[in-house]
Amino acid sequence: MATVPFLDFKPMHDPLRDKLDAAVTRVSHSDYYIRGKECEAFEQAYAQYIGVKHCIGVGNGLDAIQLILRAWEIGPGDEVIVPSNTYIATALAASYVGATPVFVEPVLETAEIDPDRIEAAVTPRTKAIVVVHLQGRPCDMDPIRAVAQKHGLHLMEDCAQAHGARYKGVKTGALSEAGAFSFYPGKNLGAMGDAGAVVTNDRELADKVRYIANYGSDVKYHHIYKGLNSRLDEMQAAVLSVKLPYLDAWNEDRVRVAEKYRRAITAPEVALPLAPDADHEPVYHVYGIRVLNGQRDALAAHLKEQGIETIMHYPTPMHLQGAYADLNLTRGSLPLAEEFSATELSIPIFPGMKDEQVLYVADVINRFFGAHR
Ligand SMILES: *Cc1c(COP(=O)(O)O)cnc(C)c1O
Repeated sequence: MATVPFLDFKPMHDPLRDKLDAAVTRVSHSDYYIRGKECEAFEQAYAQYIGVKHCIGVGNGLDAIQLILRAWEIGPGDEVIVPSNTYIATALAASYVGATPVFVEPVLETAEIDPDRIEAAVTPRTKAIVVVHLQGRPCDMDPIRAVAQKHGLHLMEDCAQAHGARYKGVKTGALSEAGAFSFYPGKNLGAMGDAGAVVTNDRELADKVRYIANYGSDVKYHHIYKGLNSRLDEMQAAVLSVKLPYLDAWNEDRVRVAEKYRRAITAPEVALPLAPDADHEPVYHVYGIRVLNGQRDALAAHLKEQGIETIMHYPTPMHLQGAYADLNLTRGSLPLAEEFSATELSIPIFPGMKDEQVLYVADVINRFFGAHR
């Protein structure tokens, strides 16, 4: 049994168990399961929370990205700029619409797409930029927006790891033309199954996404697009509505854990995530450290032996996955993404994580390096 799990839902869910059960029962007894009152109520609440005019509940985070690209009519022959260091969903969304993902390297210190390198990747085929607020830290949106504007490119945010994070006081999802959210259970706001949302201030885009996500139908049995089926169901919407009011408190608690780690992890072999500053208010979806002396895998094995669960984000970069063999990107072609794959280790962080657990993880890390120096 793990002493410190990577993620423990119980501190979040146990105090809400009655409300969650009541929500599920309410939907069961309503005998109405797709795109009804629960979905509408959550969409309104989430649009208000993010600070945008429109929210469309969809099936998952991958679809949320894909639906925005489809609504922009991006397809075969087009290029979509995505970070080289992200979960594969970001790139797959571009592939699903028939476009080619173009990987742009991160800044080492932030792990996020490098605004300076985006411009170098723009070609006459480039149609859009998808940024990812990785690990819950908002990207530097001002320089990215400037590149998008200069070259007339669409700009959207993959917010799957950044529910409630802010850049210059504005929540992620409200920092570009559109934001895509995942409510996969382990995200900062998680459903009890698959779920996602698109947020935007653009009325036309919102309508189009809503139609495309429902078989391209604006009115029942009237189809104006070759759409797909990606809808938020009533159970998930009801669960999300119960949890949303607690999201800010949960994010604050993640910040508490992160600050404790920052003070407690003292081994110089470890690079910690950047601290929050006036412009960047991260929500620490994960707490990803980088092991600088080549002992990442040994540390992970040691932590496991000591009862501490960790995850590598991500052990193989996208460009070296079989799925993207067609891009012919060999090892060495994206050195920073490869560097992250070789050095990154995400250690436990979740709302309600006990101080003793945080200090235990830090202590095991410090002592591991102390013993190997
Ligand atoms: C989780 C995640 C997704 C995909 O979300 P799903 O709901 O699992 O489809 C997309 N992008 C990033 C960065 C993610 O972390």
